[in-house]
Amino acid sequence: AAKYTGTDRAREHSGALDATAQHHAELAAALRGGLRRGEFRLLYQPIVELPSGAVTGVEALIRWQPDDQPVISPAEFIPVAEHSGLIIDLGAWILDTACADAAVWQLRYGAAGPRVNINVSARQLLDPDLPGMVAGALSRHGLAPDRITIEITETAVFAGGAAMETVRELRELGVGLALDDFGTGHSSLTLLRTCPVTTLKVDKSFIDDLNGTAEQEAIASSLSTIASTLGLRAVAEGVETQDQADRLYALGYRYAQGYHFARPIPAEGIDALLNAPMLTA
Ligand code: C2E
Ligand code: MG
Ligand code: MG
Ligand code: MG
Repeated sequence: AAKYTGTDRAREHSGALDATAQHHAELAAALRGGLRRGEFRLLYQPIVELPSGAVTGVEALIRWQPDDQPVISPAEFIPVAEHSGLIIDLGAWILDTACADAAVWQLRYGAAGPRVNINVSARQLLDPDLPGMVAGALSRHGLAPDRITIEITETAVFAGGAAMETVRELRELGVGLALDDFGTGHSSLTLLRTCPVTTLKVDKSFIDDLNGTAEQEAIASSLSTIASTLGLRAVAEGVETQDQADRLYALGYRYAQGYHFARPIPAEGIDALLNAPMLTA
C-alpha cells in the first residue's frame, strides 16, 4: 500500500521544512505507484440548466483510493502531483478517461448528451504538448471537440507566457474553455480581453452568501452580466440550496453546479440521472 502514512514519524525526527519535503517526496512516490496500480477514478458532478434542472454537462473530478485506505481528495494530492511533475502522466490519464466516458455519452445521447468538463492544472498548461494530447484523446475516442470543455484557472493562465499560447491552441481545436474559480484571481477582467474562453465558472465564494445582502447580489449579478455581454456562458459554482438557485436565476444565471443538484458521482450514476426525471431546480 501507499507509504505516505509515515509522515508523522518523519515529522518527529526532522525539522518542519524537511518533514514537509519528505512528506511530499513520499506522497509523490505513492502517487506514482497509485497511477500504476489503477487506484484513481473519475467522478462526475452534473452541471444543470436553470430553472429546469436538466443536466447539460458534467465536471470530471478525480479521486484517489489507495488500497484499504479512505479516499484522498484532489486538494491534497494535485499540488504534489504538480510539484513532482507527475501531473503530466496523471493528467494524460484523466484526459483519456474523461474522453472515453464522453464518447460513450456521445454515442448514447448524441448532441443532447452531457458535455464533459476536464480540469487542467497550471503545470499542464505550461506543457507545449497539451494541445496535441487533447487532439490525440479526441481522435482516439472519436469524440467531437465540442463534447469537452477544458477548465483552467486565471492563475494558471498567468503562470507564464507560454500558457496563453497553449490556451489559444486549445481553443483552435474547437474544445470549450472555462475559467474556473472565476473572480478569485488577480486579473479577472484583463484576462477576458485576451483569453479566448467560452465559459466563466463563478466561484463558490460569490454564491455562498446570496441571502439578500445587497453587495453580494450586486457582485453575483455583475459577473453574470459580464459573461452575457461578452457572449460567454456563466456557471454558478457550489450551489447548495433552493433559495440560492432561485436567486441566481433571478440574477440572470442559466447554469449551475452544486450539492443542491447533485454531488460528484460515478459515470453510471450520470446515466441514471439522464434516464430519470430531471433534477428539481
Ligand atoms: P474545482 O475544479 O473548482 O471543483 C469544484 C469543487 O467543489 C469539487 O471539489 C466539488 O466536489 C466541490 N463542490 C461542488 N459543489 C459543491 C457544493 O455545493 N458545496 C461544496 N462545499 N463543494 C462543492 P473536489 O472534487 O474536492 O476538487 C477540488 C479541486 O481539485 C477542484 O476544484 C480542482 O481544482 C481540483 N481537481 C479535481 N479534479 C481534478 C482533475 O482531474 N485535474 C486537476 N488538475 N485538478 C482537479
Ligand atoms: Mg473545476
Ligand atoms: Mg471550480
Ligand atoms: Mg471553485
